[in-house]
Amino acid sequence: MTETINPSQKVLASVDKLWEEEIEFLQTIARFPSTIEYEGSLQLYLKNFFQNELQMDVETVDVDEKEISSLPGYSPSEWSYAGRPVVVAKAPRNSRESEGSSLLFQGHVDVVSPEPKHKWSVDPWGAQRIGDRLYGRGVLDMKSGVAAMIYAYKAIREAGYEPASDFSIKTVIEEEATGNGTLAAANAGHLADAVLIPEPFGQCPSTAQLGSIWLRIHIDTSSNLQSDQTGVGANAIEKAQSVIEALQSYREYVNRDEQKPPEFAHMEEPIDVEVGTMHSGDFASNIPVEATLEVRSAVYPGKDPAEGKQDLIDWILDKTKDDEWLREHPPAFESFGFHAEGMVMPEEDPLFAKLDEAHELVTGKQCGRQAIPVTTDARYYGLYYDTPVTCYGPSGAKMHEPDEWVDLESVKNVTKVYADFLIRWCGIYKKEGES
Ligand SMILES: [Zn+2]
Repeated sequence: MTETINPSQKVLASVDKLWEEEIEFLQTIARFPSTIEYEGSLQLYLKNFFQNELQMDVETVDVDEKEISSLPGYSPSEWSYAGRPVVVAKAPRNSRESEGSSLLFQGHVDVVSPEPKHKWSVDPWGAQRIGDRLYGRGVLDMKSGVAAMIYAYKAIREAGYEPASDFSIKTVIEEEATGNGTLAAANAGHLADAVLIPEPFGQCPSTAQLGSIWLRIHIDTSSNLQSDQTGVGANAIEKAQSVIEALQSYREYVNRDEQKPPEFAHMEEPIDVEVGTMHSGDFASNIPVEATLEVRSAVYPGKDPAEGKQDLIDWILDKTKDDEWLREHPPAFESFGFHAEGMVMPEEDPLFAKLDEAHELVTGKQCGRQAIPVTTDARYYGLYYDTPVTCYGPSGAKMHEPDEWVDLESVKNVTKVYADFLIRWCGIYKKEGES
């Protein structure tokens, strides 16, 4: 039988009781330098934690590119998948039948590069607590969310309860570059009736997000270089300048009001078009004959990423053709990493109503809605697995920048909201043997 008294207060008190432990757990996982390709040891740590501390049933899913490369949502990866599985932990069902709707909490454990490290005023892997903040690479995006979703479940257990329907926690890899971890685990059947992702966009559920595309652009001027190190227009860095200018004018174009869908109409510049890396030259007295730029652009929901890439390529080719040399030697384009669609979630889904209730109970305030001008793994569930999903997570600042930090009070609130949401969505039992 499902519990008849409302156990929420007991569970929220349990979050308070576990709070210092939760911060220590967050510090522990934040000290793993789990940049892309190096998530393996953290995943192993979490797998053991799920098994030994939470008595969950744990499975791992290795990403098999052959298996997922033909699926919608796949992004071409350049990293080995050896030793860095997705971890899926399921609350044990014991002998009981599942009573209601199933639920999945998901977070990514990969973090972006902390470089330039010397620009940090703290150790990026130190997880230093200063007042109400915790500093470090990935503490905001999104290890605090990972800690919150795990401790929401832990608080329920420690209060003497367990979910009355199927509940699982998934920690995924490579969210920051492809999303293939989520795709592989979803393709392996690890799904649920609803998914919450504690991405750190503040305590406001997302109902729309952008897609993201990456392109690598190669400029090769070697054919123009004379043996005496001269040659008109042979400097690849100077040629790259025209490509960068084309990117800037593309950014201006896609952010014009008439291009914006309604969900993003209120934002001045929703579409970020940026050069992320540029490599060229290796000696002051040599003319650089190769330049490689890695570029990302957001795309609006409803736009096929392949089409987004083609639009961008066509734009660059068109805008650089005033340069005679580039007209005859156009840059080469290579697709890698993000090939991600944008998404809009139907707000009528009960997921949002229940999340509103949990948010109001914990914060005493009403919950808004937001469109987020970035991409997240939520897209897989909403677009390809017909599953209601939203991002709702902690607050902080300097995501992807030096001195990234998370507001600890917001982490505690998110933990409580996730715990209360879990109770509302799954229902809970008194654990066997508890009075
Ligand atoms: Zn993130």
